[in-house]
Amino acid sequence: MKSDITIIGAGILGTSLAYILSQATEKKVLVLEQAPEVAYHTSRRNTGKVHAPFLYDPQKKRLFARAAALGFEMWETFARQKGLPFKRDGVLEVSLDEAGTKRLEKYMSWGEQNGLEKGEMKFLDGKEVSKLEPEVKCEHAILCTKDASVDYGLLTKSLMADAESSGASLLLDTAALDIDVSQDRVHIRTSSGTVETGYVINAAGGMSIDISHMMGIAKDLTDIHFRGEYWQADEIYSNLTRVSVYSVPRYSEYPFLDPHWIVRHDGRCEVGPNAVPVFSPYGYTFAENAREFPAKLAEMLSSGAAKMLFDPQFLSLAAGEFLSSVSKTVMINRVKEFLPRIDPSRFHTRGTAGVRASVIDSSGAFVPDAIIRDGPSSTHILNYNSPGATGALPFAAHIARHLQELGKITISKKQCGPWDIGRVIESVSQA
Ligand SMILES: Cc1cc2nc3c(=O)[nH]c(=O)nc-3n(C[C@H](O)[C@H](O)[C@H](O)COP(=O)(O)OP(=O)(O)OC[C@H]3O[C@@H](n4cnc5c(N)ncnc54)[C@H](O)[C@@H]3O)c2cc1C
Repeated sequence: MKSDITIIGAGILGTSLAYILSQATEKKVLVLEQAPEVAYHTSRRNTGKVHAPFLYDPQKKRLFARAAALGFEMWETFARQKGLPFKRDGVLEVSLDEAGTKRLEKYMSWGEQNGLEKGEMKFLDGKEVSKLEPEVKCEHAILCTKDASVDYGLLTKSLMADAESSGASLLLDTAALDIDVSQDRVHIRTSSGTVETGYVINAAGGMSIDISHMMGIAKDLTDIHFRGEYWQADEIYSNLTRVSVYSVPRYSEYPFLDPHWIVRHDGRCEVGPNAVPVFSPYGYTFAENAREFPAKLAEMLSSGAAKMLFDPQFLSLAAGEFLSSVSKTVMINRVKEFLPRIDPSRFHTRGTAGVRASVIDSSGAFVPDAIIRDGPSSTHILNYNSPGATGALPFAAHIARHLQELGKITISKKQCGPWDIGRVIESVSQA
């Protein structure tokens, strides 16, 4: 198999890249996916929110914030075009104490800096919240109306179908095992033969650090995987709130979110996700984690992640997450703090858990933004976490611009799906 550009990973990011590159350039694009379907892992195992960008620090999370700001309109247009769910339902971000309220004030300012309009965010006190959502108890809240619920698995499948119609090829059940770069050509040994390509884009989600290391790139970085688990609510809670309710995370410098009350696009309600440290990007089960534990522990001990293993605050937070993994009551009670009527005994079934990979630098700190690193014949997208699904299309446009600047592609066509690709690139790169 030969191609000009090979994308490793058919999650929502790799698929968005295939969609844009196959339509905006003359390049022969190939996507390798080890799983039997696109969006098999994190891209369909998430909360399904098109996140408004008020949660993201415009400096520290510049790329994520900018991409999320544009993602809303792009997903709305695409979902409407394809007849897929896109429910503009809004979100309530609540504070439970003074520190949380201070954080909300910061969010108001970030929202404005990230392009939300004044009417799209309202700062409310507890009484105003009770009028809107009588079951919710909090000190203050932001009601943001520019937030939506979707099914990212369906959106990814539809994007890939369009990419294939524009000439991209997709190989499923095909894992990239080994990559050799010599004389401007790259040979990828896969589980179903060798691929010869001119350029590699690593969009392998939780495996992206491993692939970059395989190619000698980003050796200063490592990652820790966190499993986000959900519990499905009994039907009696279907109309408990109109909107999803998130609480301000208590430790924003760590990737531990406090679980939310989620209303999905089809009305199903869930509590989640927590963030339980695991040892594999596919660590959904005890068996997979036990298998990967020795190698991952050794990798962590020899990298910046070692600092986390001896950081008392990280360890205490991680212990709390483990507890909320084994005890349904502990998990539900975290949401009960702002939704007092819910009762853990009304949650019978676990939802679909998803794993994120948070990158740690050599000083032992979590990296807040997405990372782009280039090799001689490759570009690697690392730390592509939440709100990665929201921003996937604009972020892919940003990568297209990056590749054009490197002289690897020429964006020769103006139209890409329903969008003028030049305009998207201009908007996302203004950051
Ligand atoms: C619990 C949770 C909730 C979230 N909620 C939201 C949300 O509501 N809104 C939002 O915007 N974002 C959310 N996110 C973040 C979002 O889901 C991710 O940022 C996004 O899905 C990442 O997409 P991806 O394509 O980079 O990765 P992935 O979906 O993981 O795709 C990578 C693909 O690469 C493949 N791959 C890996 N190695 C190889 C190899 N060697 N050869 C071939 N293929 C390979 C994998 O099989 C996988 O399919 C959430 C994340 C989590 C964990």
